[in-house]
Amino acid sequence: MDNSASFDAIVVGAGLGGLSVGAILAQKEGKKVLVLEREPGIGGRAHHFKGDLINAPQDYLGPLAASTGWLVRSEPDLQSIVDDRLLAGYSFELGMHDIVNGAHSRMCHILESLGVPVEIVPLKACGFWVDGELHELKRGSFPWMDRDTYTEMRTILAAMLRMSVDEVRKHYRESLADYVQARTQNPKVLEFFDILGAFTVGMNSARELSAGEFILITRMPMAAGLHFADGTLGQMGGESFMQIAHNLASIVTAAGGAVRTEQRVTGIRVVDGRATGVTIAGADGHTYDIASDLVVSNVPISLTIDRLLPSDVVPADFVKHVHGLRSSGAFTPIFGLRTSVVDIPGMLMAKVPIDDPALQDGIVLGYEAHSLFVDGKAPHGKEIIECWVGLDTFQLRELKDTGKVNLVADAVRDFLAAQHPGFADALEWALYPAFDFVVSVAPTPEQAWDAMLDPKCPGVDGLFFVGESVKNYGGFMDGVAYTALLTATAITGTDYLAILPPYQREL
Ligand SMILES: Cc1cc2nc3c(=O)[nH]c(=O)nc-3n(C[C@H](O)[C@H](O)[C@H](O)COP(=O)(O)OP(=O)(O)OC[C@H]3O[C@@H](n4cnc5c(N)ncnc54)[C@H](O)[C@@H]3O)c2cc1C
Repeated sequence: MDNSASFDAIVVGAGLGGLSVGAILAQKEGKKVLVLEREPGIGGRAHHFKGDLINAPQDYLGPLAASTGWLVRSEPDLQSIVDDRLLAGYSFELGMHDIVNGAHSRMCHILESLGVPVEIVPLKACGFWVDGELHELKRGSFPWMDRDTYTEMRTILAAMLRMSVDEVRKHYRESLADYVQARTQNPKVLEFFDILGAFTVGMNSARELSAGEFILITRMPMAAGLHFADGTLGQMGGESFMQIAHNLASIVTAAGGAVRTEQRVTGIRVVDGRATGVTIAGADGHTYDIASDLVVSNVPISLTIDRLLPSDVVPADFVKHVHGLRSSGAFTPIFGLRTSVVDIPGMLMAKVPIDDPALQDGIVLGYEAHSLFVDGKAPHGKEIIECWVGLDTFQLRELKDTGKVNLVADAVRDFLAAQHPGFADALEWALYPAFDFVVSVAPTPEQAWDAMLDPKCPGVDGLFFVGESVKNYGGFMDGVAYTALLTATAITGTDYLAILPPYQREL
């Protein structure tokens, strides 16, 4: 490897955020960009497993750990799953992944603008469990709601859609639960917003969500012409969401730059308040420096400050603020089944009670049988179900420390077994991974938008951040795409957010 080559910009981390900025700088600004990635592969938390390639427990546990994940338990034990080749023919995500807003997602807009689009497989339906019964959402009516309840729900939703951005801002510091309770006491409407809120924003309860964030996110798919009854989310075949990373990397290299894996950045060098390059520990353990006066960090912000920057180059109040940010995580069980037991090709949602004071809200469970509508997710005739339970990082760690995360695992498995006849008999294997970080700044009323960071690092010229702790709304990959455009704008002065339709850049 030629370490003497010079680069116009260095991006630390080949997650979707880092690669998006790198690709924009490379193609639109003609910069020679070097992207450095610590892991053997690119894509960061957008990681896809092919069961055929899991030949040892570490092939699964390694990528999990690299993304702040751990395996709570599995059935049978992981060594037996590997030895008996139970995962052969299945493919699945690190933990359930969907692309928010499907083919209209901000990430798709970036890829289209760079000339490397991907094919999105839309979800085709959406279902709600209410009072022990599964209802498929229909346009114009929700089957479990009587006429008055439906009208009440529609009235609240319609007011959210009509609201000016200034009005939305006023509701940013209020929880979604408080917002809805001020407008109705109807338990079915409250439950609907509780479950939808948990899904749109990815946490466990409307009490924890910013109403303003929910409003902006909920109107994005509607403005794009999508409808909840049709799913509004998307999947990808083949390499799944990692394909996005490969497409972006191809743009960087096509413009004369490079994407190098197994290159762990150990420090961002700063001289007289200016970024001057990075220090790298290569795969062979050899340490070397590369100079550039433009550095973009895609590494989680607290780690950038604690591990990569010299102490005292950034203001103390900024460090304090970053250390105070609350992240949110998820518990994402995955089940492989000998036969199919689910028949709705989309996201199914349920509120599942758990009899324990540590989980007084119960859990909001979402699950999808991807093999129903995406080729190659499970061997012919078999089924894969990926599940989502969004949990605050602190709560998740507490559940881990007390062993109560197993209660959540039991609740998910028992719910599926009770509601889908044949589930227990068809179950071939189960993995129960959990993740500390799904979004690094949880969209709580205290934090959403305002607590997030500007792209430019205070105190260090030439150093920028990209990734989900940078200002965005929408969160997840879609939020990361927003941050990439905001960061590219901050670096170059060109308004890259303009590639998005107006309803995706309301703030
Ligand atoms: C279980 C789970 C489920 C999710 N589900 C969804 C979903 O359904 N829909 C959705 O839109 N999003 C989902 N997400 C979120 C989505 O995956 C992330 O928002 C997105 O991938 C984050 O991208 P990023 O670029 O900000 O960070 P990352 O992907 O974390 O990228 C950071 C990169 O930096 C690298 N790095 C770290 N330190 C160094 C170093 N010192 N030197 C060099 N490289 C380094 C890392 O290895 C990594 O590749 C999910 C996330 C998880 C964990």
